[in-house]
Amino acid sequence: MRLFHSVNCGFWTIDFDKLSSNGGIPCCPTCGSPGFETTTEEWDKGLDQMSAKYVDWIDGMQEKCNPKFKEESVKWARIIEER
Ligand SMILES: [Zn+2]
Repeated sequence: MRLFHSVNCGFWTIDFDKLSSNGGIPCCPTCGSPGFETTTEEWDKGLDQMSAKYVDWIDGMQEKCNPKFKEESVKWARIIEER
């Protein structure tokens, strides 16, 4: 199954009808951040290596635009490095 993930705000969805489009590039419908298309298989594979709390955080952003996504990602990156 296809999955869209926004670069800037963490918005992700498997429902491509919810996205806006900027010249054919799929974007977050709230803030317009462009994103990547992947598959649910690849997405799950990536999350399998993460802690349960991180996975909860990502899961919580399904179809939600989080303006603090980048800031919060940096915090997570530090936590992951410290493990
Ligand atoms: Zn957004």
